[in-house]
Amino acid sequence: MRVKTYPGEFELINRLKKFQSRSFRVLKGIGDDAAVLALDKKRHQLFTTDMLVEDVHFTRKMSPIAIGHKAMACNVSDIAAMGGAPTFAVVSIGIPRGLKAGYIDKIYDGMKACAGVFGAIIVGGDTVKADKLIINIALLGVVEKKNLVLRSGARPGDSIFVSGPLGGSLASGRHLWPVPRVKEARFLVEKFKPSSMIDISDGLAGDLGHILEESKVGAVIDEANVPLNKGARIENAWRDGEDFELLFTLSASKASKLRDYARRKSSFRFFEIGRIVSIPRKLFLRDALGQRCEIEPRGYVHF
Ligand code: ADP
Ligand code: MG
Repeated sequence: MRVKTYPGEFELINRLKKFQSRSFRVLKGIGDDAAVLALDKKRHQLFTTDMLVEDVHFTRKMSPIAIGHKAMACNVSDIAAMGGAPTFAVVSIGIPRGLKAGYIDKIYDGMKACAGVFGAIIVGGDTVKADKLIINIALLGVVEKKNLVLRSGARPGDSIFVSGPLGGSLASGRHLWPVPRVKEARFLVEKFKPSSMIDISDGLAGDLGHILEESKVGAVIDEANVPLNKGARIENAWRDGEDFELLFTLSASKASKLRDYARRKSSFRFFEIGRIVSIPRKLFLRDALGQRCEIEPRGYVHF
């Protein structure tokens, strides 16, 4: 018998689902950008966590302010992807021997500044010795019940949009200063009510793959319509991590409203890149000649 010892990240997360206990207060557990918990009559509590590890997500040559910013920004981005706003964070740090206090101060400057921009504050944490520098943030957020958006609501016929150009984030250094799209997400949930939404942290193919998986649908992406960062190619948009743009779907009528909005003088930019189809979990790329090729719905591979 073959013993599976080291599954990939998503296989592992799927296995961990069996350890979840049910509670009427848990509206969504493992499987979205943040857990959704009962809060009060009008609002849900959102709860997410993300960890950065030295030499995996950053090196000590990088600016500590940027490292702090990035650690907070990737958590804030997950709250935004649910349609919510971040509120309170706790921060755990693993500190290697010899690291200067001033260095940690700068990481906190970066975290605090990023949290502050989006109305969140740091309220606690934990400090331990470690072999490498590790920063883990757990972040709460709040979303009005009517504004909650899950990964699971995409329907055949919906249009697919992204909030900005994709690809080449690591190569360009842009990955250190991600701008969480809280304002864009709040605007979208209030005015257009997306049927599904996720933030792109592992590349378009992987994160669209999560929407397809949770919504049990497929997608066709038009290559010519995918906005690319300078120097990036379509392959980079598919597989590169850490763009932190929003990826969302809108019903046909809402999509036409958003197109009208985009034609007028608009504060945010949204790009329509394709359509949801009914074939579960299938992802197709359509080129300028209309030829379709199937793409594996997997993005950046963490391990
Ligand atoms: P994101 O890229 O949006 O941060 P992840 O890919 O990290 O999302 O996680 C996907 C889902 O799996 C989330 O719902 C997250 O809470 C859950 N998850 C990830 N790692 C673990 C773990 N070690 N134990 C339990 N749930 C996990
Ligand atoms: Mg996410």
